[in-house]
Amino acid sequence: MRLKRLLPALMLLSTTPALAEKSPASLKKDPELWVTLGTDTVESVRESFRSVGWEEPTQELVKGEATMFRVRESQLEKLATLMHEKFNRCAGFMTYETRDEAIASLTPAPALATQNLVTYTLDNAATATALMSSMTEANVRSTITLLAGYTTRYYTSTTGVNAVNALRSKWQGFIPAGRTDASVALFTHAAWAQPSVIFTIRGSTLPDEVVVVGGHLDSISSGSTAPGADDNASGIASFTEVIRVAMLRNYRPQRTVKFIGYAAEEVGLRGSKEIAAWHKNNGINVVGVLQLDMTNYKGSSVDAAIITDYTNAAQNTFLRNIITTRAGYTHTNSTCGYACSDHASWTNQGFAASIPHEATVSAGNRYIHTSSDTLTNSGGTANHALKFARIAASYVAELAKGTAQ
Ligand SMILES: [Zn+2]
Repeated sequence: MRLKRLLPALMLLSTTPALAEKSPASLKKDPELWVTLGTDTVESVRESFRSVGWEEPTQELVKGEATMFRVRESQLEKLATLMHEKFNRCAGFMTYETRDEAIASLTPAPALATQNLVTYTLDNAATATALMSSMTEANVRSTITLLAGYTTRYYTSTTGVNAVNALRSKWQGFIPAGRTDASVALFTHAAWAQPSVIFTIRGSTLPDEVVVVGGHLDSISSGSTAPGADDNASGIASFTEVIRVAMLRNYRPQRTVKFIGYAAEEVGLRGSKEIAAWHKNNGINVVGVLQLDMTNYKGSSVDAAIITDYTNAAQNTFLRNIITTRAGYTHTNSTCGYACSDHASWTNQGFAASIPHEATVSAGNRYIHTSSDTLTNSGGTANHALKFARIAASYVAELAKGTAQ
């Protein structure tokens, strides 16, 4: 989950040396990027700039509720860190490699016709139950522990790359010999070291229709370590358990299912943005996307909160039915108020995306983006994340259909 404390981030912009002062070499080393933020924050940003005697920041473009600024790549980490440390207000940003791309993002993609072709039905209880019945808290916990064991999973760090390779190996180990319809592959990103990783089960009868379940695998912190146990080892762990039982129970989906661990979410949804754009540009018919970002901290009385902004209303209704009818949990609605996680990357490309969250946003885990985002500080077990594994398994069983044994 990306946090929104916006003011210091923009203050940072005002300290950026003018681009003209930089040599071409340093430009290459620390490229300029474009970020988009909520326009509703601009007046208070100006006010805060004036109050410390700084020059007001220059907006490159304002369109509707969004504003575009230019930053440097090296500023992204501080930007995210400062936002978390000093201000209570939550705000987010999306990062783009080119000015044109940032401008294009401010024009919402039209809904794809394919979205409307999906008929949501709940008729696959046997498969959902088969998958859910094999899930265990200990297995979910083991993935959280694995990922949180790295000093950081920051998108430019060596340990952030090592963690992805460990996750890829874990997923590879779930595939039984002879199962040629299941595979694991890295999705590399040209602009930074950390790859994303994708586990694919090819659909038996509708292989060209794709169901995506994903979450980000990177972490970020204002402290000395970034365990990111809840944000977002928990979401990865929840759907890793779906992958495990899908292989264990010989799940054969009708539609293709892709489980994706996204790189570089905390610095502006960068990994998912490239992956969603790749699917759009290659004409892939993605019929639904489920995002899991923070699943193990039980901050609300209900089991799950459905984020209603930057998501698809029809699929959200389908998800609520799944949570109640298949998984057997309670839910409520909540909003982020900004593009708070990777689902927004898919929404921006016109795909139907939803995100069930661990709690209402205001009641979520307070330790995220610090050295204290540990398993202990989200209750010491993976009991809550297990619920989201069950929700994700039910979602896959009912949207990708197919059988399990
Ligand atoms: Zn986060």
